[in-house]
Amino acid sequence: MDIQNLLDDIVGAVQPHVGQGNVADYIPQLAAVDPHQFGISVATRDGEVFSAGDAHVEFSIQSISKVFALALVLAFDGDGIWKRVFREPSGNPFNSLIQLESENGIPRNPFINAGAIVVSDRLLSVTGSAAMAVRDLLRRETGNATLEADQRVAGSELANSHRNASLAHFLASCGNLENPVDLVLESYVNQCALAMTCEDLALATRFLAANGVGAEGTRLLSPAQTKRINAVMLTCGTYDAAGEFAYRVGLPGKSGVGGGIVAVVPNKCAISVWSPGLGRSGNSVAGVAALDEFTTRTGWSVF
Ligand code: GLN
Repeated sequence: MDIQNLLDDIVGAVQPHVGQGNVADYIPQLAAVDPHQFGISVATRDGEVFSAGDAHVEFSIQSISKVFALALVLAFDGDGIWKRVFREPSGNPFNSLIQLESENGIPRNPFINAGAIVVSDRLLSVTGSAAMAVRDLLRRETGNATLEADQRVAGSELANSHRNASLAHFLASCGNLENPVDLVLESYVNQCALAMTCEDLALATRFLAANGVGAEGTRLLSPAQTKRINAVMLTCGTYDAAGEFAYRVGLPGKSGVGGGIVAVVPNKCAISVWSPGLGRSGNSVAGVAALDEFTTRTGWSVF
């Protein structure tokens, strides 16, 4: 398989989709990003990296951070988190309030906002700073010591975070937060504001394609924990479009409203794509098209 050639081809093939959809505008800093960009990177299990298009441009990883936060909580704290968050697809938008009330403050899964806020809360309790813990994991996995949250994005989201504040207050009212709402929100927003390139993101996701073994052979998760995270990504990682994503791409994946998506081919490679235009459910239009193209052409899917 000539991966570099394939990625170069995909850049050409997805051009009609680049710029389609809408950039996230409820976070004003993200609304300012040029939608006519597309990048793709693959990091193989053995550490080889291939990139094409705008794979070296930094973007806001947003909800992709939820995967790394969950991995850290499982690594540090084991299965206790599953008493506070379910692992079923929600079928609702990522920031929906509706289910949370009818299900008594237990979020449907760790990848919708309510669930990720619970995970960040636990990570905050266990490490003292969820955003720093995620940042340090990403620095270690990428070898990029300058990886940092974009404070303009964090500030912009925090100043417009009524929806997430509602979710967090509701969680607190149900006894499902351990830390003060303001602290948890700040942590959550800062982990979402981490800025990365496609290439860094593929490297950072590689441990999920390597049975839980990270950079330099360090074990981050057991093979069973890795399997479970990948399973939750497959069923819940792209929100109320998870069925469509499984149909088109056929891999565990996690998207963010910055336009990034990571996907995992177990035992083979991690793929990251980025293009800021989002479809109705908040997933990158050109990003999904590129992953569809990738798995269709390689046959590398879990199905
Ligand atoms: N920070 C964003 C939010 O909470 C993340 C959402 C996303 O990427 N889907 O709304």
